[in-house]
Amino acid sequence: MQAPFNAVWLAQAAEGLDPPGHALLVQAVRTAQPLLEGQRASTGEPLDTHAAAVVCILAEMKADAATRASAVLASISSEDAFLTGRKDPLVKKFGSEIASLVQGARKLLGMSRMARLNTDDPRTGVDQRELQRKMLLAMAADLRIVLLRLASRLQTLRWFASSKTVCPPNLAQETMELYAPLANRLGIWQLKWEIEDLAFRFLQPETYKMIAKELEEKRVEREQFIDRVVSRLRQALKDEGVQADVSGRPKHIYSIWNKMRNKQLSFGQLYDLRALRVIVNDERDCYAALALVHSMWSPISEEFDDYISRPKPNGYRSLHTVVADADGKPFEVQIRTHEMHQFAEYGMAAHWRYKEAGPKGGTQVAASEYDRKVAWMRQLLSWGKADDASPQEASPEKSSTASAA
Ligand code: GDP
Repeated sequence: MQAPFNAVWLAQAAEGLDPPGHALLVQAVRTAQPLLEGQRASTGEPLDTHAAAVVCILAEMKADAATRASAVLASISSEDAFLTGRKDPLVKKFGSEIASLVQGARKLLGMSRMARLNTDDPRTGVDQRELQRKMLLAMAADLRIVLLRLASRLQTLRWFASSKTVCPPNLAQETMELYAPLANRLGIWQLKWEIEDLAFRFLQPETYKMIAKELEEKRVEREQFIDRVVSRLRQALKDEGVQADVSGRPKHIYSIWNKMRNKQLSFGQLYDLRALRVIVNDERDCYAALALVHSMWSPISEEFDDYISRPKPNGYRSLHTVVADADGKPFEVQIRTHEMHQFAEYGMAAHWRYKEAGPKGGTQVAASEYDRKVAWMRQLLSWGKADDASPQEASPEKSSTASAA
């Protein structure tokens, strides 16, 4: 295999896969590589580096082998004879599961392009909501198809940023209006925050830069503060016999801007720029850790949220509190179990691997757990509100973004 599908890449791309999964990914690369070489996407990004990067994003999300292999195959140009041949070579070579993932992902990409073309033309002006509906339907067929599309969009945005190519405003806008809410609904926070930050940066570069600069100015001071609080809390939890991972956590630019906008606050008035996270073994320890935090620092009661007893609609669970130190300096603390943390970062994607487990010992339970989660997610989606994001997560208004693009 040559660059970008080299051995270093493969080690990362196949992380966590069993030998048959590894072999499947290699087979997909062997098939796709000659067809991707020298080709570029409509954005200008080379298709082979795009495909390679998307697989790495999916590997980080612990996606199964079929999804990773499909990401490579879905990057092949739609005009390529391999995909347009009369007898479907995908089914023959990779089976119907992969063929339907690849076709599903390509269909969504096609719809996404069409909708963007149409929004450029006020006479046709196809509603993005229609596209959203279709994406949701596709999701009901197989949630992995939407995961593929989200990972590919994230890579496209990363490429615009790193190559300093101008991102078309309608692509950034679509990302905010459609992809970010989808990632939110699926609970895939790791994708959601990054696609939001990148899209926001392209839509409102001045505001983005202003917040990034403000954050940078006080970074050292903030980090020193957090380091002190983290070590105090670590020690206190140890003394109480509560096993816990305590760390500082970064805040994301788009969510900062959302808070400023929604609560009409200036950057200096934001109280929760300092934030830390406590991860414990079980639910009881979450409340034990909370009690300890509240005994060490003064809680700001209106800022407490128990998303363990009342999870967010996307299934997110955690305790959120804001406390102030002796000098009155506030900071936010999130407390959750390891299991809640997995779900918080990867959402539905955290359960993909169950599907892969197959009919080996003990996996029946896992598979039915997966099915239960999927059924639950479908029910959630069928609530059908166009945008169920919380006010903080709502997309920016068109008028404000148009002027900044
Ligand atoms: P609240 O004001 O404490 O209820 O929560 P916010 O909506 O202000 O969110 C604060 C932080 O909680 C965010 O920056 C995230 O780190 C985390 N958070 C909130 N909602 C979610 C979610 O749905 N999924 C994940 N993974 N994290 C979330």
